Amino acid sequence: MEGKFVLECHDFESLFLSLHANGYQVIGPSIVDDAVIYTSANSPNELPAGWTDEQNGGTYRLKQRDDEALFGYSAAPQSWKKFLFPPTLCLWKSHQSEKGLQFSAPQEPPQKMAFLGVRACELKAIAIQDGIFLHEPYPDSSYSLRRGNTLIVAVQCCMAGGTCFCASMGAGPRVTQGFDLSLTEIIEAGRHYFLIEAGSESGARILQRIPHQPAHADEIEKSERLLAGTESRMGRVLDTLDIQGLLYRNYEHPRWMEVSRRCLTCTNCTIVCPTCFCACVEDRTDLTGQNAERWRRWDSCFTVEHSYIHGGSVRSSGLSRYRQWMTHKLATWIDQFGGSGCVGCGRCITWCPVGIDITEEAAAIRLSGDFGRSLLGKRGE
Ligand code: SF4
Ligand code: SF4
Repeated sequence: MEGKFVLECHDFESLFLSLHANGYQVIGPSIVDDAVIYTSANSPNELPAGWTDEQNGGTYRLKQRDDEALFGYSAAPQSWKKFLFPPTLCLWKSHQSEKGLQFSAPQEPPQKMAFLGVRACELKAIAIQDGIFLHEPYPDSSYSLRRGNTLIVAVQCCMAGGTCFCASMGAGPRVTQGFDLSLTEIIEAGRHYFLIEAGSESGARILQRIPHQPAHADEIEKSERLLAGTESRMGRVLDTLDIQGLLYRNYEHPRWMEVSRRCLTCTNCTIVCPTCFCACVEDRTDLTGQNAERWRRWDSCFTVEHSYIHGGSVRSSGLSRYRQWMTHKLATWIDQFGGSGCVGCGRCITWCPVGIDITEEAAAIRLSGDFGRSLLGKRGE
């Protein structure tokens, strides 16, 4: 089912009905605790119609729009990561009985999930995590199961936020691949509709049950203009030219000390980041000593414990932890995985309680020129 079609807003519920009919639980945006949160959504009435947000360093506020846009907000505080890579997960349980020690792995029901409202930057983040968790020869079984049961309904981004810089990272705002369905929300005088496009057979199956008609050239042109407008309104910019070399040459730059004086090592930036994947494992036992469980939970390179290697932590200072995080995101990630670990969603800027800004830190190092010992030189010695 190729091409772009029009879905009128008054028919939007049919998308939910079609997803439900195909066995999907819809996860979409909703207003919870004065923020847009991705959660279970049963109908369009639960979407944040008429709401948008204002974001800046350390600032997030909802405010009312002057229209009824369903997807008129920018990056939500929490990403889709929590559904594919849950914050806590029981890996196995053991029980000591008369027959000996028995192990069992918790069985997860293969719930089919439809993510509704995935932006281009978020789609790119999911692709990055796919590369990490589905990597052979040891794919993560929980992630693999969840990902295999996930359908992506993407939304072309018409609302760049104050901390967004996906255009700098080549991660948005246009959704081009990796989706099952994509939507572009268009509101004009007296009309509210979506351009809808299938990107897979699963998406085409969903689309078949939805009232739609072929899009006209002027409707497609309007969606193009909206996307071009988003690209020109990014709240932040990050110059990625030789960013790897820049950071490797400035391993001892005084800016790291400056930022570490502000950084609370609270871990917020890593928890909200859609690509961060650090985790630790904890073993728990009950008071009888007969039952034990191993849990995986999100961890962060900002904790002292995360770099603990027998006898002490490799990164004991805040300076070394911030430098590790930013250098990993923008430089060593490229060595490790072949691309940047940052998609420019801006969450780490918005949700940093002291407003530390990765784009500002990178620009400050670039502006001051190369300083101090080169990591590359050190490695090459
Ligand atoms: S950079 Fe900001 S969000 Fe990240 S650990 Fe430091 S204070 Fe927390
Ligand atoms: S580093 Fe910041 S801007 Fe980049 S993907 Fe993570 S949260 Fe988003």
